[in-house]
Amino acid sequence: MPLFQRAVFLTTVAHLRDLPQDAISEVAFAGRSNAGKSSAINTLAGRVRLAYVSKTPGRTQHLNYFTLAEGKYFVDLPGYGYAKAPAEIRAQWEGLIGPYLSKRQQLAGLVVIMDIRRPLTDLDLRLIDWFRPTGRPIHILLSKADKVSRQEQTKILRSVKAELATWGGAELYSVQLFSSLKKVGVDEAEGVLAGWLGLENKGPPDKGGPGAKMP
Ligand code: GDP
Repeated sequence: MPLFQRAVFLTTVAHLRDLPQDAISEVAFAGRSNAGKSSAINTLAGRVRLAYVSKTPGRTQHLNYFTLAEGKYFVDLPGYGYAKAPAEIRAQWEGLIGPYLSKRQQLAGLVVIMDIRRPLTDLDLRLIDWFRPTGRPIHILLSKADKVSRQEQTKILRSVKAELATWGGAELYSVQLFSSLKKVGVDEAEGVLAGWLGLENKGPPDKGGPGAKMP
């Protein structure tokens, strides 16, 4: 069974002190608002509305936990990039998201969803900078791949890979094409996440195998 197929909403965490206290491994999903994060989560889960739980009032600025069938967690982080007062943004990052990313021991890896037409924006890099010191892996989904031609897809994928290769510890970073609309890259993403969580990947890997490893 695909990894996310039986995911269910668990809880919303507004304060670090409310994080689950068990030792269960988790993976987190982050991205700019409108990058296609909810659609990607719903696509992985095979369910139309799973991630919209995170978009309901009172939950959008918090960490939303879901339980996977295998007893692991995934965490939907607040979308970033909407116009907000700087003090509000700072409070959110310094109070919850930043410490979560940099200190959460159970966090096995971070998935960052980026619209293929706007990869690696300053805010994406800021998010990644919070997480990189942990030495844990980051996997980028270039979402809405259907919005550009195949030729563009290849070109953008190659340029993002080239950029990641310039970062120290390049083996920690991987990137792939993804489309919720066309269901592109689902097996590949599942393969990466299953690997992080120490689960067997039961689905057949698509093009190039799990993770689209760096050259
Ligand atoms: P979020 O704010 O990052 O959670 O983004 P959403 O998942 O809500 O998606 C934002 C918008 O992009 C919505 O209008 C989606 O229908 C659209 N979208 C998301 N994924 C895709 C995709 O793979 N292809 C296309 N063409 N549109 C998408």
